[in-house]
Amino acid sequence: MSKNADVIIIGSGIIGNSIAYHLVQQGLKVMVLERDNIGDGASSRNGAGVRLSGRVSPESDLAEDAVRNYWPTLSEELGLDLEYERRGGLNLAFTNAHKSGLEKALKKSHAAGVNAEIISGDEARKICPHVSEIVTNALWCPDDGVANPMLATLGYYRMAKKMGVHYITGEDVISIKKFRGRARQVITSRGNVYEADKIILAAGFNSRRIAETVGLHLPFLKRIDECIITEPMPKMFSERITTADGNLYLHQTKHGSFIIGGNTNLERYEKNYDAKPQNTTVAAADKARLAMKYIPALAEAKIVRQWAGWLDSCVDRLPILQENPEVPGLVLACGFSGHGFAIAPSVGKVVSEIALGQEPHIDVSALSYDRFKAKGVGTIESV
Ligand SMILES: Cc1cc2nc3c(=O)[nH]c(=O)nc-3n(C[C@H](O)[C@H](O)[C@H](O)COP(=O)(O)OP(=O)(O)OC[C@H]3O[C@@H](n4cnc5c(N)ncnc54)[C@H](O)[C@@H]3O)c2cc1C
Repeated sequence: MSKNADVIIIGSGIIGNSIAYHLVQQGLKVMVLERDNIGDGASSRNGAGVRLSGRVSPESDLAEDAVRNYWPTLSEELGLDLEYERRGGLNLAFTNAHKSGLEKALKKSHAAGVNAEIISGDEARKICPHVSEIVTNALWCPDDGVANPMLATLGYYRMAKKMGVHYITGEDVISIKKFRGRARQVITSRGNVYEADKIILAAGFNSRRIAETVGLHLPFLKRIDECIITEPMPKMFSERITTADGNLYLHQTKHGSFIIGGNTNLERYEKNYDAKPQNTTVAAADKARLAMKYIPALAEAKIVRQWAGWLDSCVDRLPILQENPEVPGLVLACGFSGHGFAIAPSVGKVVSEIALGQEPHIDVSALSYDRFKAKGVGTIESV
């Protein structure tokens, strides 16, 4: 088996798979190294939101590109129904603090040219009659949507593989080695050494540990989100519901189940960051109660399954997309901070352009690692 490629991608989440798919179309020999099973990170465990609202530039430009130019035709392109639907999103509020959260999200959305408005609780109930009477206001974004994360991640994988991308699972990358100042080799825990002209780091939170082996310190924290899924229910509504306090998201899937999830703030109690993320009984019950508070009819739903997923939360909640000048040959594609599913189609294209040395079709220079360099502002959190 050849251990050489033009490009090696570390990580087979939706980001790695989307990049692989875009690169193989350019005739490159592409290899993807995956520690576990294909897509077994955040990509197949997420809340399915394909959201335009509430993002800041240039992430909003990536979202706009993904929603306008990729998601609507992606099922056809990948030959699999990814269940993408632009159903509209309602971000619900019932306190003054929530309302100021909506105003901030509206400002961000308008700055990014996204069609969004703050509406009253009654207007929200006209759009979605199941919204609770406690809700006083909502941010309505008609262009927000949903897709099936598992199918989208595997859809990219299958198509990339079919087009010639070489996937190797069970390869836990432990370091990158430089030769003549350039990133060149990828070393795995089995002692295997792979070589490529370009190495793309798309390993979620673990990108931090791998980047450290070439002297880059990625300012990520690991966060945990938990989801529950109900048994299929008769069609109730199509909008994706989120809450202004950021604690809850939910939607009804195509086959009728509700996926309900959110951050738990329990990550600091997790002892083993390398373990598969585990659900906690406390968070599952909390999300269920919260969901009933906003959508009372969900009291009838029966929960059938639950899961948890790690997020690579960057200090400014934006990804890092750059071929780093300090380590030429290494392209960073990580730090998606819980927002990476929706923008993956556009990110795949942009990162493939960066890896090919082309001008990216979207200006992502503000997402470079350089933004963390000392600016004399006191703390890195002030970036
Ligand atoms: C519960 C939850 C809900 C979310 N909801 C949304 C949402 O509604 N909308 C949205 O846009 N985003 C959402 N996200 C975020 C989104 O899922 C991620 O931003 C996105 O999936 C990131 O993709 P990725 O490919 O970078 O990472 P991952 O999917 O985590 O993939 C990284 C891959 O790298 C592999 N890897 C790790 N270490 C190594 C190593 N040493 N060697 C080789 N391989 C390695 C992992 O096994 C994994 O397969 C959510 C995330 C979670 C967990």
